Amino acid sequence: MICVRVLISNDDGYRAEGLRRLAEALRPLAEVTIVAPDRNRSGASNSLTLDVPLRVTRAEENLYYVTGTPTDCVHLAISGLFDFEYDMVVSGINDGANLGDDVLYSGTVAAAMEGRCLGLPAIAVSLCTGTHSGKHFDTAARVVRELVGRLLRQRLDAPMILNVNVPDRPYEDLRGLKATRLGNRHRAERVVPSQDPKGHPVYWVGPAGPQQDAGSGTDFQAVAEGHVSITPLQVDLTRHAALANIAGWLGVAP
Ligand code: MN
Repeated sequence: MICVRVLISNDDGYRAEGLRRLAEALRPLAEVTIVAPDRNRSGASNSLTLDVPLRVTRAEENLYYVTGTPTDCVHLAISGLFDFEYDMVVSGINDGANLGDDVLYSGTVAAAMEGRCLGLPAIAVSLCTGTHSGKHFDTAARVVRELVGRLLRQRLDAPMILNVNVPDRPYEDLRGLKATRLGNRHRAERVVPSQDPKGHPVYWVGPAGPQQDAGSGTDFQAVAEGHVSITPLQVDLTRHAALANIAGWLGVAP
């Protein structure tokens, strides 16, 4: 068997159940190391901590927690914390979906994205939990083990980030895998105003908006129908199709 080194991180913090389940699922396939935030940093996106130094604590063999963001964790782990190279980053299993616009804010996706320069695709895995859903982390763990196994047997041609969303149901009730595009959401709900003990106004960021484009081929639709949604992501945000239009508007050569 090939010796593969997999780095695992998340944005729910190093104590999260999904992280533990992910590590357990991948240990038969690879040498697994966890470097994860010391607390829940969901919504941290691709932020790096630049104003204070990062402190790393070894909690146990192959488990480290960091006083930073998911991106800090992966950045540290692949840029000097260890004296070897990782082959792959897997992030998750997030407690909650990362569908459509969610990927812009997601720390789960950001951690995977930070591992994009490694040899194998980076994977972000989210379980689409709801208030009363079963939290079937075992389902998502089994799905990601199968995906990683497949990647090791049959590599993808290009480096990419795979955003994986798993319906929160027993494995036997999944309807299979689907390659999807990102849908999108309506505008987010309004912020929730409140007061601190001194009477000063404070605000909570409200929930994400409801789905807007959840149509054919989207990640939203796949998950709603009980499929595992797998969206290939790229970091290049350039709107290539608009380049000529913008050059024309500017009156410059395209
Ligand atoms: Mn999270």
